[in-house]
Amino acid sequence: MLHVVHHADYMAPRPTRGSFKFDKYYLVMEELRGSGAAIMEHAPDPMPRDWLEAVHDPQYVEEVFSAQVPHAKERRIGFPVTEHIRDRVRHTNGGTWLAAQLAMEHGYAANSAAGSHHALGDTGAGYCVFNDLAVATNRLLAQGDAARVLIVDLDVHQGDGTASLLAGREDVFTLSVHAEKNFPVRKARSTLDIGLPDGTDDDGYMEALDKHLPRVIDSFAPDFVFYQAGVDPHVEDKLGRLALTDEGLMQRDRFVVREARQRGLAVASALGGGYGEDQRAVAARHARSMLAMAEENTLWSQAADQRASGRV
Ligand SMILES: [Zn+2]
Repeated sequence: MLHVVHHADYMAPRPTRGSFKFDKYYLVMEELRGSGAAIMEHAPDPMPRDWLEAVHDPQYVEEVFSAQVPHAKERRIGFPVTEHIRDRVRHTNGGTWLAAQLAMEHGYAANSAAGSHHALGDTGAGYCVFNDLAVATNRLLAQGDAARVLIVDLDVHQGDGTASLLAGREDVFTLSVHAEKNFPVRKARSTLDIGLPDGTDDDGYMEALDKHLPRVIDSFAPDFVFYQAGVDPHVEDKLGRLALTDEGLMQRDRFVVREARQRGLAVASALGGGYGEDQRAVAARHARSMLAMAEENTLWSQAADQRASGRV
């Protein structure tokens, strides 16, 4: 069973300017619904303004809420912040938080949008308006749902906004594995950054992940994991630079869920990046990723149930 968070507002009408394609969010849900797999959809509430302001500069939050973001910031974001976009980002941010709540109940849950890891304190950037990962992490910690949160960011671009917004916090570990030469040019400092060379393939990628992720989980000892599961490390991704196959991406996603679940940790994923002319192909990659993680979660949840009931 895949517990997936989705909302009609995720599919904001395409702004008149900018190259970002919002139809992927509709197509992802079509792929999931058409897959034949068991899925349960959950609709999020908008993220309350206070929680956005707990992480972002209140003046920037006001600019977004009044749909009056200065042009320089809109250029950095990559599209104009209309009222539709404002409603969208409030729901996508609420969605990552809801995915965390569902993950604590079911082991794994996915937000079918967000992973907006480039958004900074006083501005958005790189198609990101509010940083749902930082906002949701801060809220989970502040409300006592978690005491130590690990954010695993495997989008092909560095999670620079998340790293900056959560820098210096001892209750958060940010791990970013990305293409070193990709956007952003000036990287922030995550707790641990792994910059991969252009053209890294499935084997090279898994070698790096296997070397670092289990060690990070064991040494930091989180009690919750957020996973930015961008599919833009794919070989055909328009903004990628790495060379993972469909199989490689699914292997990566299963590995993250396995490493967390076998230690009893819940995982919530956010969608992250994925770019190409063929939006259907990109959406299918995201859908396969979420379904693979749900399958892996089921395996580990069953194993845990069997252990608990003394059958093995
Ligand atoms: Zn990306």
